[in-house]
Amino acid sequence: MFLKQLNMYGFKSFAEKTEMEFVPGVTAVVGPNGSGKSNVTDALRWVLGEQSAKSLRGGTMEDIIFAGSDSRKPLNYAEVSITLDNETGSLPVDYSEVNVKRRVFRTGESEFFINEKPCRLKDIVELFTDSGLGREAFSIIGQGKVDQVLNSKPEERRTIFEEAAGVLKYKHRKKKTEDK
Ligand code: ATP
Ligand code: MG
Repeated sequence: MFLKQLNMYGFKSFAEKTEMEFVPGVTAVVGPNGSGKSNVTDALRWVLGEQSAKSLRGGTMEDIIFAGSDSRKPLNYAEVSITLDNETGSLPVDYSEVNVKRRVFRTGESEFFINEKPCRLKDIVELFTDSGLGREAFSIIGQGKVDQVLNSKPEERRTIFEEAAGVLKYKHRKKKTEDK
């Protein structure tokens, strides 16, 4: 599975329709301070189901909608969509390509789509459970997270590694069985 395309409209600083294409391998996004590099990872996190405005570096969800500039009016909604290659079947759906889209309006209303079909946020979260992607996964490591890993106590650091390796859920299950 790999990320093929990211589309943004009205998301943070991306007032214009913006399309980014990716190929397998390493992609580096470079640019001056404040040019929107972190906004790209925020967009990925959001479309994967992030619900916390704080972890998207905002106060409320409205803060992710383009707020306007000297030359442009604010927009009424933000939209992000990603296209993932699913040739290897990492995602539990019968499509070789999966498109996930999320939209939020200033009114607070939200819309979610999987391959253009309306769905719930829950469906998106479930789609990515156990895929290594998703809002809780370590596929996106923020700047703060690196500090957290370096400064945490050994036991906490171990938990981070266990979660990344996918063994945490088995530990939880083992404990449940032992508690019975
Ligand atoms: P650095 O190199 O400092 O980490 P960066 O390239 O990661 O910078 P970002 O944090 O992605 O930069 O982008 C910050 C910019 O996004 C700021 O100029 C900010 O004004 C703009 N921005 C954030 N939210 C919105 C919004 N809702 N509407 C318009 N612009 C926004
Ligand atoms: Mg940044």
